[in-house]
Order: sequence, then C-alpha cells, then structure tokens
Amino acid sequence: AGAMPSVRQTDTKILPVKSNGNLTSILKSSQAKSIADKDRILHIAGLLQTSLNVEELISHFSNEISTDVAHDHLNYINEKLDINFAIGKRARYSCTYELTINENKLGIISFTRSKKFSDQEIEQLEGLICALHYPLRNALLYNQAVQAAHKDALTGIGNRAAMTTELHRQLELAFRHSRSLGVIMMDIDHFKKINDKYGHAVGDYALQALVECAAKSVRISDLMFRYGGEEFVIVLPETDESGVLRLAKRIRRRVEKLETRIQGQTVPMTVSIGITTLQESDDDKTFVGRADEALYKAKRDGRNCIRIAS
Ligand code: GH3
Ligand code: MG
Ligand code: MG
Repeated sequence: AGAMPSVRQTDTKILPVKSNGNLTSILKSSQAKSIADKDRILHIAGLLQTSLNVEELISHFSNEISTDVAHDHLNYINEKLDINFAIGKRARYSCTYELTINENKLGIISFTRSKKFSDQEIEQLEGLICALHYPLRNALLYNQAVQAAHKDALTGIGNRAAMTTELHRQLELAFRHSRSLGVIMMDIDHFKKINDKYGHAVGDYALQALVECAAKSVRISDLMFRYGGEEFVIVLPETDESGVLRLAKRIRRRVEKLETRIQGQTVPMTVSIGITTLQESDDDKTFVGRADEALYKAKRDGRNCIRIAS
C-alpha cells in the first residue's frame, strides 16, 4: 500500500489584520460574532503578551487554543528569519494561514489533525489566530533585534558579543564530550598603512574581502567572528592542532594571493595568525588569551606567518 495521501482541507488562506494595533481593531478584523468569542480572543491576546520568544509563543498559543479547536499538530514557518517550528505529529487534514499585518508578512501557520475541521471550527480558529498577530509581530521584531546586535554590520559575521556567547558554549560542549577544540586568532598586517595609502573606504572593502576569503576556507561548522577592528577569531569544533594549523596555513596563503582589486588598483594584504587548542585547565579567557599571545609572537617574528601557542 502506498503512503496515505495528504489531503488539504483548505488552501493557504491569507489572514490579514489591518489595524493600528489596538485590540478593538483586532476584533474587527476577526470574525468573532458573539461577546463570548470576543472575550476569548482578548483573553488569549493578553496571555500571549508574556513572551517575546517565538517558539515559546507558538507553543503557548497551541496549548491555549487546544480546548477551543483540537489539533494534533501545528507548524509555524517564517522563511525570511529561517524559523520552522513544529509541535506534534502531522495528520491528514490541514488548515493553513498566512499571517499579515498591513502587508507585513509574519509567516505561515498550519494546523493538522486526523479528523476534518468543521466550518464552525475553522471560523473559530480564524478568530483565535487574530489574537496571535501582534504578539507574534513583537516577538519577530525582538528576534531580529537580538540577531542584529550580535552581527558585525560591515562584514556580516558575528561580532565580539556573539563570540563571547558562542565560545562559552563551544568550551562546554568540548569538555562535556571530551572533544578537541581549536581557535585561530588573525590580525591584518600593517592595516593602518592600507588605510593611509588607499583610504578608509578601501580599508573597509579589504576587511570584507578578507572575511569572504576566510569563509571560503573554513568548514560550515567553523565559527568566524570579528573580534575587533582588523582582528578575527575562528573557533573550530572537533579540530586538533594539526587540523587547526592546516587551516591557518590555507588562510594565510590565500590572503597573500588575494591581491584585492579595488577601483583598478591592487591592494596587497597579509595576515599574522596565532593558534591553539583547548587544554583541560582552560577557561574562555585563557584559551583565547593563548592564541592572542601566539599572534603577538607572529607579529614580532616578522608578520605574514603563523605561530602555535606553546
Ligand atoms: P600590525 O601589523 O601590528 O597589526 O599593524 P596594524 O597597522 O594593522 O595595527 P594597528 O592596531 O596599529 O592599526 C589597526 C588599524 O585598523 C587602525 C584602524 O584605523 C584600522 N581599522 C580598524 N577598524 C577598521 C574599519 O572598520 N575600517 C577600516 N577601514 N579601518 C579600520
Ligand atoms: Mg593589524
Ligand atoms: Mg589589531
């Protein structure tokens, strides 16, 4: 026997809320007819104000409305923010809605279950979803703001705040699973001279070119951050010293060959690199500190070279 065909009870329906954000206009947008229905929507809208976390909010909503409209499974997708969150097990019949506020797309929510949704249940569900619009919009904005705060605006990679958080997580993982962890600290040589000779805009472009070049050299699981002005940190999970050194060599060589071309002129650039791997006695500070010391040694030893922390 073949797989059970997935029957769509409804096509994706656009469920817009056109309003200035107050609850009265949400109720107007919803199709709630009775006072009891309206009270229920307001009650749920109120409950949903308590979280700015998208997944928590969606779980909360699913839980809360399960007494009104039973469902086996709920899936929320926001492609733009790379969110795909599901609760429960997908079943045969589905109701799918695209949520929008004044043309602003909030994502797609879909409910499924093994029993067909009645017309009355669909109407009720559509009313209840109206309560989700504003809390969801706020959570999405918060999510975006948090992401932006961890991103370096010039190069698009994580900034120092992101590194602090991620480094701590990687150290814990490495210790817990007794895995190796490597780190590369890299600093552009005589970058001040590049700025002085070609101008600050060219310097900015060189920083972007360097990040692009390094990103092509690392694995998808490796994490690159802008540590400071022209200083970068790459964290390498499950990588031993020889692996870290191999990558460092590749990056150093590629940057040297990069010969960044900007407005017809060639801007030569080299990097100095310090590397180390995690030791049992390390914490976040000593780990990166050792790579930093190795970087300074590379600078002292003439730049455009790699030094391994002893
Ligand atoms: P060294 O080889 O010892 O590292 O020399 P350096 O000139 O690279 O180091 P120094 O720390 O003296 O100078 C770093 C320069 O990086 C100075 C600063 O103006 C420049 N810089 C930092 N951030 C940016 C940026 O975002 N854009 C540009 N264009 N320059 C930057
Ligand atoms: Mg420098
Ligand atoms: Mg520097």
